[in-house]
Amino acid sequence: MKRIYNFNAGPSALPLPVLEKAQSEFLNFNESGMSVMELSHRSKTYDEVHQKAKQLLKETLHIPDSYDILFLQGGASLQFAMIPLNFLQENKKAYFVLTGSWSEKALKEANNIGKTEVIASSKDSNYTFIPKDFSVDSIDDVAYLHITSNNTIYGTQWQQFPNSTIPLIADMSSDILSRELNVEQFDVIYAGAQKNLGPSGVTVVILKKDLLEKANENIPTILKYKTHASKNSLYNTPPTFSIYMLSLVLEWVQSEGGLAKIEQRNKQKAEMIYQIIDESEGFYKPHAEKDSRSYMNVTFTLPSDELTKAFLEKANEQQFIGLNGHRSVGGCRASIYNAVPVEACEKLSEFMYKFYKQNY
Ligand code: PMP
Repeated sequence: MKRIYNFNAGPSALPLPVLEKAQSEFLNFNESGMSVMELSHRSKTYDEVHQKAKQLLKETLHIPDSYDILFLQGGASLQFAMIPLNFLQENKKAYFVLTGSWSEKALKEANNIGKTEVIASSKDSNYTFIPKDFSVDSIDDVAYLHITSNNTIYGTQWQQFPNSTIPLIADMSSDILSRELNVEQFDVIYAGAQKNLGPSGVTVVILKKDLLEKANENIPTILKYKTHASKNSLYNTPPTFSIYMLSLVLEWVQSEGGLAKIEQRNKQKAEMIYQIIDESEGFYKPHAEKDSRSYMNVTFTLPSDELTKAFLEKANEQQFIGLNGHRSVGGCRASIYNAVPVEACEKLSEFMYKFYKQNY
């Protein structure tokens, strides 16, 4: 069977054992005589899938009982709007740290709804780093602080989260489940599934129950977190197949030794590629500053557009796909989420080394 080296930014690689398990029970799930996709979302068989996904997420991320876990639709992009709709009160403002296009989009939506303030930004440097020296003061009139934990496009990642008494909200779309995490540092965590959690279609939201008590009431029912929390994410038809796939991915994460092991492996994978970049005498230029580098998206440029084109063409021939950088950064990006095997990163590093030696 042909499997390619998949460095797509999302939707992206899924663990092979997960795909195989899904395939093996595709036509007849749990002796139901139906595919998971054909089950009623109100059936007992589906309910077990739903509860299992929730329970596994709770165990894997050590989510305390004081948090709700929601499975929503609309991607992380809908969360950009749902968060201010629910939590940005009229007399308050939302703080933002801008670290890339996704935080800009989150800010734009919040601006449509209420008052905001950018307290730190690396925009002037085309988002090459995660700002560190900022203070989080004037607590009384601040509803929350929003950050993007990993910047998929620019290849930067928070290595230490801000310590603040202000409710902290994080878009973790591109690094959730990639490393150990103290959920209690956050009031809301949200993530579209299509990188480390499963296929696209489900958005995971983890939120502190306390916060729900203070949520705005005068918004449409379907946009209230309270609606989904009170109905166990079954207010309307959930993306059942994506939730099923999420449960398989979580089982896989556990079978691989949990987040500690996954984190170790992700670091090993990323360091392999960064090492080639660093030792290439400036041939490969990393986009991110060293202490802000992402373990999920490795971004770099080559000396010219011709070389970038040749690199991508050669890579394609050798079965490496998805290496083209986002248009706002240019160059190349290797997205090396949990499901990208160590072997794929080894092969890519070898390829990058040879290409540099031949073209330097
Ligand atoms: N935030 C981040 C960090 C992302 O990487 C993405 C998608 N690549 C989004 C938000 C938007 O997600 P969606 O397409 O699920 O709305």
